Amino acid sequence: MAEETKVVRASAKTLLRRRLRFARTRVRELRMIGKALASTKHPILVHVIPMRRCNLACTYCNEFDDVSNPVPLAEMKTRLDLLAEMGTSIITISGGEPLMHPELDEVIRHIRRRGMIAGMITNGFYLNQERIERLNEAGLEHLQISIDNVAPDDVSKKSLKTLDGRLEMLAEHAVFQVNINSVLGSGVKDPEDALKIAQRAVHLGFTSTVGIIHDNNGQLKPLGEHEQGIFEAVMELGKRSFSRFNDFQHNVARGKEHDWRCRSGSRYLYICEDGLVHWCSQQRGYPGIPLAEYTPEMRHREYFTEKFCAARCTVSCVQQVGILDNWRDPQNLKPMPMTPPATPQTQLVQIGQGRGDS
Ligand code: SF4
Ligand code: SF4
Repeated sequence: MAEETKVVRASAKTLLRRRLRFARTRVRELRMIGKALASTKHPILVHVIPMRRCNLACTYCNEFDDVSNPVPLAEMKTRLDLLAEMGTSIITISGGEPLMHPELDEVIRHIRRRGMIAGMITNGFYLNQERIERLNEAGLEHLQISIDNVAPDDVSKKSLKTLDGRLEMLAEHAVFQVNINSVLGSGVKDPEDALKIAQRAVHLGFTSTVGIIHDNNGQLKPLGEHEQGIFEAVMELGKRSFSRFNDFQHNVARGKEHDWRCRSGSRYLYICEDGLVHWCSQQRGYPGIPLAEYTPEMRHREYFTEKFCAARCTVSCVQQVGILDNWRDPQNLKPMPMTPPATPQTQLVQIGQGRGDS
């Protein structure tokens, strides 16, 4: 495509600010790793949802609605304070679409004020120069956009065609790190798209990762030979990024079960818009305890709890966190018994097709 050759240059001032922020974030990440290796008592990564609503409706996604209101800022700050007191290292804001939250900048500022690393996953549709400058000022450190295809289709509008102009704005103005996640797996029409997206990301100076989505039954399914070749090529392109910590994805790509210890509920937490703690985006409903009531003992128990879904899991962010503890403390506890919900639980989502961008 013609845009691939367009040269995008950031100003000298932006480049300097970017280098400084990257260097500071890198130091904070190294500290995060040291702290995680020294102690297992705090969460390493927490996903928070300030806004469940989304402006898009990707057909594979089970993580959005089109009605909910933003979580009030005061409530978000209370949740972030609780997480900071637990010793959390990284907060990733997710959704729905977080950029629809009217006070998102203040949420990011509060994360930084409390000494935690601030990241965000967005579909990117609300980005423009002014919004990028506001995210710079708020102190954002990581941003991830997941792009599903080269041209929009009935499944997803998150395409290179619709987003390329915004990617160029990010290349020109963002002082935070940008990662582009491309997606492979069942339901993706043209696997070549993932490589084109990753090449464009690298061309613009971003890092790139690849996500593998499940089949319609939420089960791991091996990629075909051709898709596997593309997968390896995208992984190679992504060597500068966190994909170098995604070795487990080689098993996922081959449809092989993998042996690891999921520390969700302890080292990784997913806090939904209602402020409840869940194992992850694909196991919502358990443990389903309000964050304010989630004790260190509960986190400790979850640390030692074996997750029945681990062998076939494709949630990459939790697996990256797992690397820091896989070598220690075998898991031999079973999940805590749960009180049946008073009203039929519609929110429990067994592992299925996630948004593929975590
Ligand atoms: S995948 Fe992302 S952009 Fe698509 S509907 Fe889900 S939350 Fe919205
Ligand atoms: S789906 Fe993956 S991340 Fe979620 S609880 Fe199961 S093993 Fe952990």
